[in-house]
Amino acid sequence: MGTRLVLFSPPPPTRTHQIFHSATPPFPFSRTHYKRKIPGRIHSSNARKFGNFLDLKSEQSPEFLDFDDLSWFQPHERSRFDVIIIGTGPAGLRLAEQVSSYGIKVCCVDPNPLLIWPTNYGVWVDEFESLGLENCLDRTWPMASVCINDSKIKFLNRPYGRVCRKKLKNKLIEGCVSSGVRFYKAKVWQIEHKEFESSILCDDGNELKGSLIVDASGFASTFIEYDKSRNHGYQIAHGILAEVSDHPFDLDKMLLMDWRDSHLGNEPYLRVNNSKFPTFLYAMPFNSNLIFLEETSLVSRPVLPYMEVKRRMVARLRHLGIKVNRILEQEKCLIPMGGPLPRMPQSVMAIGGTSGVVHPSTGYMVARTMALAPFVAAAIAECLGSSRMIRGKQLYAKVWNSLWPTERRFTREFYSFGMETLLKLDLKGTRCFFDAFFDLEPYYWQGFLSSRLSLVELARLSLSLFGHASNSSRFDIITKCPAPLARMMGNLALESIG
Ligand SMILES: Cc1cc2nc3c(=O)[nH]c(=O)nc-3n(C[C@H](O)[C@H](O)[C@H](O)COP(=O)(O)OP(=O)(O)OC[C@H]3O[C@@H](n4cnc5c(N)ncnc54)[C@H](O)[C@@H]3O)c2cc1C
Repeated sequence: MGTRLVLFSPPPPTRTHQIFHSATPPFPFSRTHYKRKIPGRIHSSNARKFGNFLDLKSEQSPEFLDFDDLSWFQPHERSRFDVIIIGTGPAGLRLAEQVSSYGIKVCCVDPNPLLIWPTNYGVWVDEFESLGLENCLDRTWPMASVCINDSKIKFLNRPYGRVCRKKLKNKLIEGCVSSGVRFYKAKVWQIEHKEFESSILCDDGNELKGSLIVDASGFASTFIEYDKSRNHGYQIAHGILAEVSDHPFDLDKMLLMDWRDSHLGNEPYLRVNNSKFPTFLYAMPFNSNLIFLEETSLVSRPVLPYMEVKRRMVARLRHLGIKVNRILEQEKCLIPMGGPLPRMPQSVMAIGGTSGVVHPSTGYMVARTMALAPFVAAAIAECLGSSRMIRGKQLYAKVWNSLWPTERRFTREFYSFGMETLLKLDLKGTRCFFDAFFDLEPYYWQGFLSSRLSLVELARLSLSLFGHASNSSRFDIITKCPAPLARMMGNLALESIG
């Protein structure tokens, strides 16, 4: 997140709440935590007791929605669709729900269309409210906190929520069912194109035909083409929904980031590496015994080893005195961020993880996809709806442009520049960055995190951050900034003439 404008001296404590307690412990945590004696190196027999949860098996098992009235496609029908959507993740289903509402004939193909998504998704509540999706959150926290270091914490006055996967998927599928979307249970192997028609070949040997194929099969897709090398960064994280004996976090705040590294005091190797390639803790406390914890590398290139992330999490939980009794859910998060956009236009349309909409500096995507799918749906309806019949190259150009109009491509260059900047920051620089970032006007930091700022606003945000920078930070900016800045300017220039 952010811009090259890093390492800033702390601006006045006006908008976010800052507290400096050099003698007292940091305090997103209840007092009980600090009364505990923080253990030193733990012998393996005691490892579990003090937080080595890695050998616990996740109890998560696949769950499915129960939909009697889902309309399954039967291959012998030989129907031809307007749109075939590959994948029923959040992106694919949102687009299906939206585009079918125009009367467009849609088929969604996925090996498990009714599987409830296994991932824990977090969003800012206002993002879902503005889309009328607030009923699809199963837990909200009125505030978020960011722990910069052992003596400074910031409280963010912006409610945060966990998406109720079941409710969101149910809502989207209900919308699909009411507008006649068909579903087909298969994995897509291949896509072929003729001038005005495309077809998909599935792993069961069946072929389905449509005017437009949309790839919503997630980050690992191979259906989308790029004409530049994909130099993206990666967010990697290890997350657990855990039953714990106790934890030290306030129940009315979610912990957006905890950048402290005191837990690595007895882990010299981990500490040195963490100071160069830092990870933070993200936590959603549900009650005093149930919590979602995720050790996260915001962005790295090459990707930080997964085992290293897990080891840091073990050390952190041990230090916090969190004893994990059961792992109810577990997730490995690996998100490619930034890098070039897909070649545009191309015969396959993309939405979601495979389309470049993931925030290059944060890895968030769910709310943004929910917000962007209606634009793509409207463009498809304009081309394939009853009044007009635009297909082939003209259709591809219009739908790609609906997702990535020029202004949005420009701002994405800026967000990607933010990612390139973050890649260059060590722990100290990262702390300084977030210290200054969360002191910006809420309009700016909230807008940045939700990809809502225009290019002019992003430029203002950078100037404001630079204005707060200390001299050493400015030196850092000037010495580390040129390459990514030049790349961004070059890309902006190319976009504007392309
Ligand atoms: C662990 C993790 C945690 C995340 N947390 C957040 C978060 O808190 N907030 C946030 O905003 N974003 C988060 N993200 C980022 C992003 O929002 C998610 O990855 C999101 O699931 C992407 O949605 P999608 O619909 O594009 O793809 P996916 O959710 O990956 O869905 C793809 C679908 O396509 C299907 N599929 C794949 N290949 C084929 C094929 N060949 N044929 C047919 N079907 C196929 C799959 O079965 C799947 O159902 C997270 C990502 C990960 C990996």
